[in-house]
Amino acid sequence: MKTPEIKKVLTDKAWQANHLNEYIQITGWVRSIRHSKAGISFIEINDGSSILSIQAVAPKALVNYCEIEKITTGVSITVSGILVESMGKGQDVEIQAKEVKILGIIEEPENYPIAKKRHTFEYLRGLPHLRIRTNTFGAIARIRSSVANRIHNFFFENGFHWVSTPIITSSDCEGAGELFKVSTLDYAQKNSTATSANYTDDFFAKETFLTVSGQMNAEAYCLAMSKVYTFGPTFRAENSNTSRHLAEFWMVEPEIAFADLEDNATLAETLLKAIVGHVLENCSEDLNFFTQQIDNALTERLSRVLEKKFEKISYTDAVEILKKSKRDFQFPIKWGLDLQSEHERFLTEDYANGPVIVSDYPKDIKAFYMRLNDDGETVAAMDVLVPGIGEIIGGSQREERLHVIDSRIQNQKLRKELSWYRDLRKYGTVPHAGFGLGFERLVSYITGMENIRDCIPFPRTPGNARI
Ligand code: ATP
Ligand code: MN
Repeated sequence: MKTPEIKKVLTDKAWQANHLNEYIQITGWVRSIRHSKAGISFIEINDGSSILSIQAVAPKALVNYCEIEKITTGVSITVSGILVESMGKGQDVEIQAKEVKILGIIEEPENYPIAKKRHTFEYLRGLPHLRIRTNTFGAIARIRSSVANRIHNFFFENGFHWVSTPIITSSDCEGAGELFKVSTLDYAQKNSTATSANYTDDFFAKETFLTVSGQMNAEAYCLAMSKVYTFGPTFRAENSNTSRHLAEFWMVEPEIAFADLEDNATLAETLLKAIVGHVLENCSEDLNFFTQQIDNALTERLSRVLEKKFEKISYTDAVEILKKSKRDFQFPIKWGLDLQSEHERFLTEDYANGPVIVSDYPKDIKAFYMRLNDDGETVAAMDVLVPGIGEIIGGSQREERLHVIDSRIQNQKLRKELSWYRDLRKYGTVPHAGFGLGFERLVSYITGMENIRDCIPFPRTPGNARI
């Protein structure tokens, strides 16, 4: 017999009408079980299809009732029985069990690490393979998956092509400190004399790293396909133990040709609104859960995102706003210094009370590929900041003028390494722009989960790569 998803049984009204008072079968894991004095067991079963669990009512008369009495949270079962209208609160239908088959018991239930109902997120981080069985992590996983689907659909609907940019890269131009090395050499053992100048024995015969961004490769494709995006894992060996940084995270990076910073900002706003709208419309059960359990203002805050245009300010204005705020910030505010997380959060939480786009940063604190503005001091960069997180998107119009980009790459070795990137400016250059949206920061924003380690299935952070 084909077993329907529990989500379908509980929420698809047409399906319910078709199957009411019929024999059906469902499978899943026991979320909780309660035995009444009268000899009836009420079993809540979840299969991950939604946050909802179905109730099966098992009477004493069942042949294996002595086994059913021993069922504990986490046991996997198949229940066959009649779908009936539920007398209880909270669900329309339930199953009158005729047969309960136990598939997998919990060995040593007293040692089952997540038997209890409530655990701290910190405790659960130590159990990444089991925490997915909790309501919270099930809801995060479903929202994460649904948002990824919406992102791909959004780009396809808007004429973008998906490009798979490499994960192993040899270009080290973003900022040397943050790269993970990729090597098959065992430096400790056989090659203690290996120097950074000699990679001839190594797999790729040159120094290689895990990518920190697919942007430059995406630019190459953009300059032939006009609208492209990458969506994949990126790696940064930044030794920052914050609630917003992972060593391995996923990034969405669109790149558009014949476009300037304003087009870029419009794309960022349209994309974020499409994602938020999608979640409000299609993930309401999980979103309600987060609103009840994690952050009471969540749904309202997300709804407001759709209503108004994102606030836009220049970096120079942002510095003035921060100075005037008279807040006692930990880090100094001065034109030319980068904005810190506390400044970003003030701008989005207190000043804009919603998403805000900060643009035109000083050239010296931004990457060489960002387009130099006419003032000669700032570049056409933009960050999108959101409440609770700060920067969720970083992007720019790219420098498309060969002579200007050359003036920004003074280092001759780097200029040589980047000859392919210069080719993009030498051969049919056009104005183009793009950005990177941190996928886990997005999941954090949408679920209200404060720690980014809870927004990816198996988080990697300094000192931790469990499972
Ligand atoms: P931050 O200043 O917050 O560390 P960044 O400016 O170094 O971020 P970008 O290089 O602009 O980040 O990357 C684009 C986006 O990728 C960021 O806006 C953010 O959403 C995300 N991101 C960057 N670093 C991380 C990280 N270590 N873990 C998770 N997401 C990240
Ligand atoms: Mn950034």
